[in-house]
Order: sequence, then C-alpha cells, then structure tokens
Amino acid sequence: MDGVAVVTGGNRGLGLETCRQLSAKGLRVVLAARREEEARAAADELGCDHLQLDVADGESIAQAAAKLRKRYGTLAALVNNAGVALSGFDAQVARTTLAVNFFGAMEVTDAFRPLLSAEASIVMVSSGMGELSCLGRPLRHEFESPELHRDALSGLMNRFIADIAAGSFRSQGWPESAYRVSKVGLNALTRVLARELDGTGIRVNSVCPGWVRTDMGGRGATRSVAEGSRGIVWAALLPAGTPSGNFLRDGAPIPW
Ligand code: NAP
Repeated sequence: MDGVAVVTGGNRGLGLETCRQLSAKGLRVVLAARREEEARAAADELGCDHLQLDVADGESIAQAAAKLRKRYGTLAALVNNAGVALSGFDAQVARTTLAVNFFGAMEVTDAFRPLLSAEASIVMVSSGMGELSCLGRPLRHEFESPELHRDALSGLMNRFIADIAAGSFRSQGWPESAYRVSKVGLNALTRVLARELDGTGIRVNSVCPGWVRTDMGGRGATRSVAEGSRGIVWAALLPAGTPSGNFLRDGAPIPW
C-alpha cells in the first residue's frame, strides 16, 4: 500500500511500533509526537518523517494540519494513538484525561479531515476498558443512541467532569475511572464519525490492542508491542469499501 499515514503519540510504545509496521508495509509514515526533539529522534531511527503534535493543544493541531497540507497534500491513514492513563481520580484528572484521549482525538480528526483521501482509514486506538457495560443503564442508553451527535457527546464528556466535581458521579452511573470514560467516549465518537462520514469513502474504526507491555500497560501485560500494534496496522490498511464504525480486536469485531 502507498500513501501517507500519520500516527499520534508515535515516539514510544504502541505508537512507535505502529509507525515501524506501517513503514514496513510501504507507507510514508509521519511520526507525530508531543515534543519535537523526541519526534525527530524516533523518526530518524525508523527512517520516517516527523511532526510536532500535542493533541491537547489546539494551536499545535492547527500548525500540524497546515504542515501536512503543505508537505503531503493528502493522507491515506490517521491513527489516533496518543493517550494517557493517569493515577488518581478527581475532576482535574478527568479533565486532563479527556483532553488527550477524547477531545484530542476529536480535534485532530476534525483538523486533518480535509486532508484525508476518499479512501482513507481512521483508527481510534481504544481499549476494552471502554466497554459500555461499565456505565449505569440510563447513561449507557445515551451513549448507545443512534441519534447521538457530537455536541451531545461532548456534553456527556463534560457532564462526567461536572458530576465528579459535584460528588454525584457514582449515582449518575459513571465508573470511578477517567480512563474508562475517555475510551467509552472515544468509541462513541467512532460511531458518530462513521455516521458523519457515511458515503465519503472514509472509514473510522476503534481498535483495542489488548493488554500490551508498554509504559502504560506495564511489564506484566500479556502482549508484546508487536502483537498489540498488528491489529492497529490491520485496521489502518483496510481497503476501500470495507466496513466503518466497528470496535475491533485482532481484526475481529468485539462488543461495544
Ligand atoms: P505509552 O507507552 O504510555 O505511550 C503513550 C503515548 O501517548 C506517548 O507517545 C505519549 O507521548 C503520547 N501522548 C500522551 N499525551 C499526549 C499529547 N497530549 N499529545 C501527543 N501525544 C501524547 O502508552 P501505550 O500503551 O503505547 O498506549 C498507546 C495507546 O494505546 C493509548 O491510547 C492507550 O490508551 C491505548 N491502549 C494501551 C493498552 C496497553 O495495554 N498498553 C491497552 C489498551 C489501549 P509522550 O512521550 O510525549 O508522553
């Protein structure tokens, strides 16, 4: 396959390995990372291109989109991989987590959307931790609704932060984990985007890499980065005309 693929959070862990595997498949890879020096160093090692991109910084996203437009014109794949799993649980932890894992992925996708070719594939690197079953029933129905649109979804994400601040998150049906809620939101974003992009040829899918030995997953995790990245790369390379709006692990659908 040819074309340009952008991977966020590409300087280490699953992002770095995804860059390596996509390069090996023949794509021109743009390794995007929060800090310019780290992006350059990692990209030089792989022999791919690099880009400074802090997904929680609107100015950085806008500059990255402008650079991509100038350098490449169109993109064949976008892998929203950047993510955080912070310790602790309060409104500030939730705000920071959602800023990267949910709003970051949404803003990057919106900014890069005009650059995506008509056959492009978007991958949201998600997690089984974001299964809908972690929510109370009424909340789950709101996330599952086929009527859910992006403003309502952003509202739900902000409501989570407000409910923590008000001390009512548990009674409102939220789990005590900002990471889980960020991935519930990311998966809902995949479904919303798939509806928005219907008919354009662009596909968007969520991928769970399994439990992977990275800084985030820890040494005790069951999968190597190579194994974890394989499903991400598979989804990024899905040919035109393949389904959109799925939650996948190892190339097969899993329950939302
Ligand atoms: P990791 O080793 O901790 O790497 C996280 C990456 O995200 C780093 O490159 C980090 O960059 C980047 N990042 C964090 N905040 C960023 C920001 N504001 N802008 C740009 N990049 C940012 O974690 P990982 O295990 O590779 O995780 C990658 C993705 O897989 C995440 O979305 C994670 O939720 C998901 N996932 C992982 C596992 C697992 O078991 N490891 C399981 C399920 C899902 P810096 O170096 O600059 O911090």
